Amino acid sequence: MTQHDLIVVGAGPAGAHLAKEAAKLGLDVLVLERLSRDRVGDKVCGEGIALHHLKNPGIPYPTGKELGNTIDGIDIYPPSMENHITISQRVEGEPCDGWTIDRIYFGQRLLGYAEEAGAKIQDHAHVLEPIFDNGTVIGVKYKDTKTKKIREAHAQVTVDASGMSASLRRKMKNPHIEQTIELRDQAVCYREILELQEPFEPADRCWIIMDDHYSPGGYVWIFPRGGKIANVGLGTQGGQGHRPKDLYKQFLKTNPIFKDAKVIHGGGGAAPIRRPLWSYVADGIVFIGDSGCHVNPIHGGGIGSAIEAGHVVAPIIQQAIESNDVSTSGLWPFNVKYNREHYGQKIASLDLMRHLLQEVGNEEFDYVINNRILTTEDLQRANAGEGIHLSALDKAGRFMRGIRKLGLLRRIQRVSRAMSEMLSLYRSFPEAPDTFEPWKQRVVQLYHDLGYQP
Ligand SMILES: Cc1cc2nc3c(=O)[nH]c(=O)nc-3n(C[C@H](O)[C@H](O)[C@H](O)COP(=O)(O)OP(=O)(O)OC[C@H]3O[C@@H](n4cnc5c(N)ncnc54)[C@H](O)[C@@H]3O)c2cc1C
Repeated sequence: MTQHDLIVVGAGPAGAHLAKEAAKLGLDVLVLERLSRDRVGDKVCGEGIALHHLKNPGIPYPTGKELGNTIDGIDIYPPSMENHITISQRVEGEPCDGWTIDRIYFGQRLLGYAEEAGAKIQDHAHVLEPIFDNGTVIGVKYKDTKTKKIREAHAQVTVDASGMSASLRRKMKNPHIEQTIELRDQAVCYREILELQEPFEPADRCWIIMDDHYSPGGYVWIFPRGGKIANVGLGTQGGQGHRPKDLYKQFLKTNPIFKDAKVIHGGGGAAPIRRPLWSYVADGIVFIGDSGCHVNPIHGGGIGSAIEAGHVVAPIIQQAIESNDVSTSGLWPFNVKYNREHYGQKIASLDLMRHLLQEVGNEEFDYVINNRILTTEDLQRANAGEGIHLSALDKAGRFMRGIRKLGLLRRIQRVSRAMSEMLSLYRSFPEAPDTFEPWKQRVVQLYHDLGYQP
């Protein structure tokens, strides 16, 4: 048995970045990772990341083998592919919107930073369960997969950053920590890295195709990774009986650019696409990244928000340890900060939009884009979690254009209002656990008013 200040389970973007930040603050950090050190980062992924996700936490931008392409916008296509909307997040003075990356090089780099800062990395360590003392998590049991021995590691605070496997969250018995994520709240994906016959054009754009036929409840993506290499995949809403790989193979036949493409790698994966956990903390334990449901429910991107969670929680853990209070109350400031000031509010608001999009069929989606019922500005604002605000003048124009789909227009407005309310609720997330329950009921009510499941 070993004793530490902090145990981090999982060396993905959430765990690796937290480990670096916590070690920099002087904490004794142990990272337990089930993969071997040189496979960390090897994850089926779209490999797209926005610039601000690296800029804000001070991570140098990708270069060399890690860098796929610089990206200058996302083109969102309706099923007909007749029109598209471009979303750009370019910040003035920055070279681009974001990048496509080679995920394993990126993962290796983040973990290297953690090591340089002084965190200990133990690979081949498959974490099995939390160890409790009077209801407080005081460490974990893990299997050393090389020696097959079961070991224990103890710490003042343990963080579950184990991604979708959520190895510790699944064993929690706490009403505010959901053990499992409903299948309907998961994006179930299949993707391939393809070498095309010709370079993908435009090389600086990521493509998203909203098509209910090939990606029911999700979308198809084509992300150029430089030259003839492209990361192509699709996600569908879980629990609906779809086989993402079959749908993907059908989709490839729809476009001649995929003819005779060579498959460099193929694989499946899943991501949580729902509101964040009710609470990211319990006695002695914290949940970040996919384990905390810190994923954008619209596009399933979670690398940036996972890194951000690690960044925000590191000083809060240090403070909790220093003041000798690692209880739910001592760690609660993470709930407050991440929800009020960071990604929590955006994820919660976008979850309502995700529900709306999952109701919209191909014909309606074509109508909305082709008749400019939704514009680039709307989607940019919505992407920021801010709902869709139609000005009075704007409303009249859109009313005329949307006259054939009045029901849909009203629905968009209703959900949009609820998104703004959700933002306000998360921006006033309760300061302490004792006022949490009435706040939670208001969030639940917002879902129910729209006929959605929270
Ligand atoms: C198909 C697909 C495409 C995606 N595309 C994008 C994209 O383009 N852009 C984007 O931003 N996001 C994307 N995402 C989401 C993104 O991959 C995740 O949100 C992100 O990786 C979350 O980081 P994390 O550190 O929480 O978890 P992970 O990256 O999953 O890392 C978890 C780590 O924990 C380890 N681990 C798991 N269980 C245990 C255990 N029991 N013991 C020890 N270690 C354990 C794992 O080996 C892993 O190293 C995509 C997801 C999928 C499935």
